[in-house]
Amino acid sequence: MKTLEIKNLHVSIEDKEILKGLNLTINTDEIHAIMGPNGTGKSTLAAAIMGNPAYTVTEGEIYLDGENVLEMEVDERARAGLFLAVQYPSEIPGVTNAQFMKAAINSRRAEDDKMSVMEFIKKLDEKMAILNMPEEMAERYLNEGFSGGEKKRNEILQLLMIQPAFAILDEIDSGLDIDALKVVSRGVNEMRGENFGALIITHYQRLLNYIIPDYVHIIIDGKIVKSGGPELAKRLEDEGYRGIVKELGLDF
Ligand code: ADP
Ligand code: MG
Ligand code: MG
Repeated sequence: MKTLEIKNLHVSIEDKEILKGLNLTINTDEIHAIMGPNGTGKSTLAAAIMGNPAYTVTEGEIYLDGENVLEMEVDERARAGLFLAVQYPSEIPGVTNAQFMKAAINSRRAEDDKMSVMEFIKKLDEKMAILNMPEEMAERYLNEGFSGGEKKRNEILQLLMIQPAFAILDEIDSGLDIDALKVVSRGVNEMRGENFGALIITHYQRLLNYIIPDYVHIIIDGKIVKSGGPELAKRLEDEGYRGIVKELGLDF
């Protein structure tokens, strides 16, 4: 089992404090969902964990199995087992999807443990089949001309290929129709197990009908204000954030 531990995290963007003391512990074999109003710091949390330089950690700690993540460079964080699927993946013209994934896998492996071409192709075929992706998607330039749904599906393909210890999925469901949502969920569920933990950032309870989380957290104004099980997401669907804000007497 591995543990990702976030303690009293404070993060600022351009001197504006966005995260104001966030605590969260995720173990492998656990799926956590985090929900919250727009602009409340969900993507900021993802960016800070991955080491996006636009976000400044002013206080607090992040540990991955006891190792200090905040002292790691971005590529070290990836090698240590962290993965982020973003809302708007960037296009990389001139690099095919397959080339990108093979490089991503091998950059995480030791010199004497690189994945062979045969092994890569076999695994790619298997994972693309799970996601109902046409073979030609592998040979297209990364995200170039991909539709919104194809981009999201492709983020999940990367997840299945790279098999990180921890994945943060930032609004992977936004803009997906119901069929694409099911496929994306199938991919995440395929990863579930004792060597994988996830933090799913979403606005909608809908996704959580397909990926049943073990824990649901509500973030408001840069802090987790309430945690519970899947029933918490259902309550939000019924009441919106107002009910929670009122119950907790928050000034929001
Ligand atoms: P969420 O993902 O919960 O919708 P974000 O973490 O993206 O929220 O944003 C939190 C706040 O930080 C928002 O008020 C947003 O406007 C602000 N913000 C995000 N990115 C930047 C940036 N690059 N520069 C300045 N402000 C930003
Ligand atoms: Mg948002
Ligand atoms: Mg966001």
